[in-house]
Amino acid sequence: MGRVNISNLTLEELEKYIEDLSEKKFHAKQIFKWIHKIGVVSFQDMTDISKSLREKLEENSYINNLEIIECQTSKKDGTMKFLIKLQDGNAIESVLMEYHHGYTICVSSQVGCKMGCKFCASTKEGYVRNLDASEIEGQLQTVQRYTGKKISNVVYMGIGEPLDNYDNVIKSIKIINHAQGLNIGARHISLSTCGVVPNIYRLAKENIQATLSISLHATSNEKRRKIMPIANRYSIEELLQACNEYIKITGRRISFEYALILGENDSYEDAMALVKLLRGMIAHVNLIPVNEIKDSNYKKSKEESVERFMNTLNSCGIVTTVRRELGSDIDAACGQLRKKYLENKI
Ligand code: SF4
Repeated sequence: MGRVNISNLTLEELEKYIEDLSEKKFHAKQIFKWIHKIGVVSFQDMTDISKSLREKLEENSYINNLEIIECQTSKKDGTMKFLIKLQDGNAIESVLMEYHHGYTICVSSQVGCKMGCKFCASTKEGYVRNLDASEIEGQLQTVQRYTGKKISNVVYMGIGEPLDNYDNVIKSIKIINHAQGLNIGARHISLSTCGVVPNIYRLAKENIQATLSISLHATSNEKRRKIMPIANRYSIEELLQACNEYIKITGRRISFEYALILGENDSYEDAMALVKLLRGMIAHVNLIPVNEIKDSNYKKSKEESVERFMNTLNSCGIVTTVRRELGSDIDAACGQLRKKYLENKI
């Protein structure tokens, strides 16, 4: 049997593991803290643990250590984009952004993505595998260690569809959220989905206070199918029904992401159709001028169309904001850096 990835265990799992090694349960808390609060990657750094236990751990387990291959920093706003190598050689991306409330990291949840959204570079090279919880939480540890900056917010909006890697994502949230770990409140964690409907129902019952974001991007099934293949599986009606159920069970507001694409979904009629869909829901709309990627015909909406779209929604009582564009001078759009890596350009 191979060595156990000890950084992929919740505290409860770690307690069981330590007991299975015929050691006292309380050591689990110490080890968990070293890995997830302090962020060490070597058992030798766990100074309050006996040498014999450290050796036993070394023999039977390992701490997942991720490696930064490339870091690009925006000269405009300081946004940092990381290309991170996993232990099996695969690469993912994370982005660190500074907001007035602190540092937010955007993490990847899969290597590649199978969802095929037409405006997204992450899906172009297909899907490779799910990340485990240690590879998701490890992105925070790695970036904090590299930058020395304390992360206060996490968004699951990087490479991959979080609700397509449900168990690992939920486990990573529990580890990130844990008081003996990074202790980032669930309310400071956002999950973004293109609309994996059955897992929205599942998530509603998890009793996790994270914010749910839905990538909607279109107001009719026909238009949505053109840009998001997931719409062939679940209609907008089914998606919104799941959202309403989520709101009913959790009492939490949902955030709808709407990437504005020039001439595709940015007209006054589109705005009014969105109002009709969301009226009466506890919702917030986040407008995102679409990221222009190579090999895609989609162009960013004009500033005046973005403004008009936002004003139309707000005047109809749907709280709407435009997401500030960060890192526009670097490859900040999700998937672009990894694509270069796969093309051997990094
Ligand atoms: S937008 Fe998200 S769900 Fe869609 S292809 Fe990209 S990573 Fe996957």
